[in-house]
Amino acid sequence: MDHMRSYKLGVLAGDGIGREIIEATTAVLEAAAKKKEVKIEWVPLPMGFKAIEKNEQPMPESTITALTGCDGWLLGPHDSASYPERYKAIRNPSGELRHRFDLYANIRPAKSSPFVEGLVQDADLIIYRENTEGFYVDRNMYQGVGEWMVTTDVAVTAGVFTRQAIERIAHAAFQKARTRRKKVTIVHKANVIRLGTGLFLRVCQEVAKEYPDVEVDDYHIDAMCAHLVRRIHDFDIVVTENMFGDILSDLTGELVGSLGLAPSINANDTYAMAQAAHGSAPDIANQDIANPMGMLQSAVMLLDWLGERHDDVNLGAMSASIEEAVSKTLSQGVRTRDLGGEAGTREFAQAIIKSL
Ligand code: ATP
Repeated sequence: MDHMRSYKLGVLAGDGIGREIIEATTAVLEAAAKKKEVKIEWVPLPMGFKAIEKNEQPMPESTITALTGCDGWLLGPHDSASYPERYKAIRNPSGELRHRFDLYANIRPAKSSPFVEGLVQDADLIIYRENTEGFYVDRNMYQGVGEWMVTTDVAVTAGVFTRQAIERIAHAAFQKARTRRKKVTIVHKANVIRLGTGLFLRVCQEVAKEYPDVEVDDYHIDAMCAHLVRRIHDFDIVVTENMFGDILSDLTGELVGSLGLAPSINANDTYAMAQAAHGSAPDIANQDIANPMGMLQSAVMLLDWLGERHDDVNLGAMSASIEEAVSKTLSQGVRTRDLGGEAGTREFAQAIIKSL
């Protein structure tokens, strides 16, 4: 089958439940790829504890170099809070990759599912979180970290907002809105953080003028939390700065069911990294009980991103077939323990493969 397009995908299993959810995810992708005439070349790469053992770095340079030759990659969770002390002062593996590859858009959808009981049942929105600056001090400086201790009792933390970074996340948000319900909500706190988030609001509003077909509104971050709880169905695309986006996406993830199911990709115009919102869950590692859905749905987002980028309908068909198989599996009552079921990680993945 020479006409099959081949994609090189990095696989960074990481720590805790990483290996189990990554194995389940790649097994499902492999089965779906075969059916839709897509060829995937998997590139396993060390990250986390394994990399510390082997390369004395949680995110080795050799891994980063290998990723530059990949079309995208799956990033498992890392348990960086348990790394030896000398690694805690450096950026954690996911922060390092976001920074090194300038993955400026963290895209986090929250969509209700008829098979998952959420606090709301009518959500279908996507958060576009600026991923490179704002209040996250580990990545908002060219060199060093954006906070200081003046004395042992005085800390100063700097937020950074630049026109360039705001423009590109705003364009990404507005372009996506055009493919959906054509509505963008800008989230900020321009009444108090007038210069920083004020610039964020102003630049987003300027970009909005280039998309006259897209409706725009804006809310302060605090009010937005209330509006999401009250009427989440009214929101389509939400664009916001780094920390606000991180917090809002935990809220929306939990509102539609469970943070454990929440997917995301980190992307720029060249690379995309699939990453589940949850952590490494060391308390349930190596027991074959972790839910692989967050990782799998993140991989599905990566397939859609690759499909758009390479104009490859087979990838779109592949991701749609996985979505369908997941729904079918859940509708049959097969689910992992965290969702009240009894299926193990492997068993759940096999059930999805059977439904494909
Ligand atoms: P991090 O700081 O790395 O984000 P965390 O300590 O905040 O991690 P998680 O590792 O996400 O949190 O774990 C929080 C709780 O959710 C734990 O009890 C864990 O077992 C559970 N959990 C997380 N991910 C999953 C999953 N995929 N399947 C089942 N349970 C999970």
